[in-house]
Amino acid sequence: SETVERHEFGAEVGRLLELVVHALYSEREIFLRELVANAADAVDRRRFEALTDTSLAAPAEARLRITPDKEKGTITISDAGIGMSKQELAQHLGTIARSGTLAFAKSLTEAPADDKPSLIGQFGVGFYSAFMVADEVDVTSRRAGSEEAWKWSSDGKGAYTLAPAERADAGTDIVLWMKDDAEEFLDPWRLKSIIRKWADHITIPIVLVENGEETPANEGTALWRKPKSEVTPEQYTEFYRHVAHAFDEPWATLHWRAEGAMEFSALLFIPGEKPFMAVEDTRESRVRLHVRRMFITDQAEMLPNWLRFVQGVVDTEDLPLNVSREMLQSTPVLARIRKAVTNRVMSELKSKAKDAEGYAKFWENFGAALKEGVYDDAEQRSEIAQLLRFRSSSVEGWTSLADYVSRMKEGQEAIYFLAGDDAARLAKSPQIEGFRARGVEVLLLGEPIDAFWPERLGNFDGKPIRSVTQGVADLAKLGEAPAEEGADVAQLLARLKDALKEEVSEVRATDRLVDSAVVLSAPAHGPDLQMQRVMRRAGR
Ligand code: ADP
Ligand code: MG
Repeated sequence: SETVERHEFGAEVGRLLELVVHALYSEREIFLRELVANAADAVDRRRFEALTDTSLAAPAEARLRITPDKEKGTITISDAGIGMSKQELAQHLGTIARSGTLAFAKSLTEAPADDKPSLIGQFGVGFYSAFMVADEVDVTSRRAGSEEAWKWSSDGKGAYTLAPAERADAGTDIVLWMKDDAEEFLDPWRLKSIIRKWADHITIPIVLVENGEETPANEGTALWRKPKSEVTPEQYTEFYRHVAHAFDEPWATLHWRAEGAMEFSALLFIPGEKPFMAVEDTRESRVRLHVRRMFITDQAEMLPNWLRFVQGVVDTEDLPLNVSREMLQSTPVLARIRKAVTNRVMSELKSKAKDAEGYAKFWENFGAALKEGVYDDAEQRSEIAQLLRFRSSSVEGWTSLADYVSRMKEGQEAIYFLAGDDAARLAKSPQIEGFRARGVEVLLLGEPIDAFWPERLGNFDGKPIRSVTQGVADLAKLGEAPAEEGADVAQLLARLKDALKEEVSEVRATDRLVDSAVVLSAPAHGPDLQMQRVMRRAGR
C-alpha cells in the first residue's frame, strides 16, 4: 500500500548481516537467546520508566510468549515491554548505534569457534541474529505512552519497510518466517531446551504457546536474588545440580549480596563429591557471570584456577549488559568483584575447617587444588597454608600446619616433610627413621603437586618448611642418636664410595637411621629427592 515506506540499510548493517549469518551458522540457536534478552530488557525498561513517568502504566503482566506455528512456519516472540516508536524502529533496527562494526567483524573472523556466539551479544548486534534462521522478520511494536503501532519488515538483504499497524497494548511482537533449513526450531521441545540452556535464569516468566495453551519454559526466578530466608535447602540443591551438572548434595552453599561500593549477588557451591570429570581436566573456574540476571558468560574466571571446583553464579549491577570481551579482561569492576568473591570463599573454608571431620571430606576431594594455590597465588599463599591438611608420622588422620607447630619438640626449628608417591608408603620410609626415633614429627606428602609447593611456601608461622631428604644437619640438634657405637665407620665409607663411584656424590655416616642400613640423601641446598625424581621423569 501507499503508506509503506522503504528504507535502505546503512552500508554497515548489510556487511554485518552477512557476517553474522555466515560466521555463526553452527550456533544458530542463539537467535532465541538474543531475542529473549531484548524482550526481557524491554520489560525491565518499561518498569523502570514507569517509576518516574506516571503516565506509563507498568506492564500488567510481564510474561514473554513464544509461539511456534508449524503450518505457517513462523515463530512469534511477544513482550509487554517498552516498545518502539516508528523512529526507534528505524534507528534501533536499521542502523548500528554503536560504531563497533569493524571491531566486531575483526573479532568474529579471528575468534575461535567456541567464542563466536558470545561475541554477538557482547557487541550489541543481537537482533540481527534473527536472520540466521529467518528469511523474513516482521517487528510490530507500540511504544509505551503512545497510541500508534508500527510494523518493521525485512528480508535482511539491504532494505526494510515501515508501515502503520495495530497493537492493543504497548510492547513488541517479533515474527520470524523460518528458513526451510531451520524448521527444527519450530519444535516446542527444541525451543524449550534452548531456553533452559540460555535463558533459564531470566526472572520474567517465559511461556511456550501451543494450541492456545501456555506452558512455562523457564524457572523464572533468579534464586540468587532472593533473600536467604526465602530459599529452601531443596531449592538450593536443585539449583546446584542444575548449574554444576551434578547429582550430589553441595558440601557448602554460599549465598550473599554485596551492597555499597560493589553491587552483586552471589550463589556459590562447593560440591560434596569429586566430580566425575576430574577437577584437573578443567583448568579454569566456570562460575557464571550474570549482569542484571542475564547470563553473560561462564568464562569470566570469576575465581582463581585453584578454586575451580566452586560452582555457581555471580550477578552484578555494576556492568553494562553488552559487556565486551575486553571489558571482561580488564575492567577494575570485575577485578574487585573477583577479589571479594575469592575472599568470601576463603573465609567460608576457614570457618568450615573448624569441624575436622566435615572438612576432611572436602580436603580429600579438592585438597590438591588448594595446594596449587599455594604454588600459584602469592597473594593468598599464606591464607591457603592454614587450610592445608596432611598425613603425619605421629598422628592418625589429617593434621594442619598449625597443629604440627603446636606439637613441635623443644629446640625444633623447622617443619619437616617427606614427599613421595604414596603417604602410606612414606610412613615406612627409612628417610624418617632418625626423626621418628627423636620424637620429631614428619608430614607425609603423597600427591604429585607436593613436589612443588613446599619450596614456594617456604615457611609457616615463622618456621621453615624443610624436606627430610635435604641434609641431615638438623638431626644432631634434635637430640641424641640412639645409635650403636664401635664399628669402623670410616673404612666402610671408603669402601662404599669406591664401589658406587660416580653414582653418588658423597657417602656419609648418619645418625638419622635406626633400623635401616642405608638411605639416599639430597644435598642441603638444591632440589629435594622427590623433586629430583619428578624432574627425571619430565626428562630434565
Ligand atoms: P542490544 O540489545 O545490545 O542493544 P540488539 O541488536 O539486540 O542490540 O537490539 C538493538 C536495539 O533494538 C535494542 O537496544 C533496543 O533498543 C531495540 N529492541 C530490540 N528488541 C526490542 C524489543 N523487544 N522491545 C523494545 N526494543 C527492542
Ligand atoms: Mg540485544
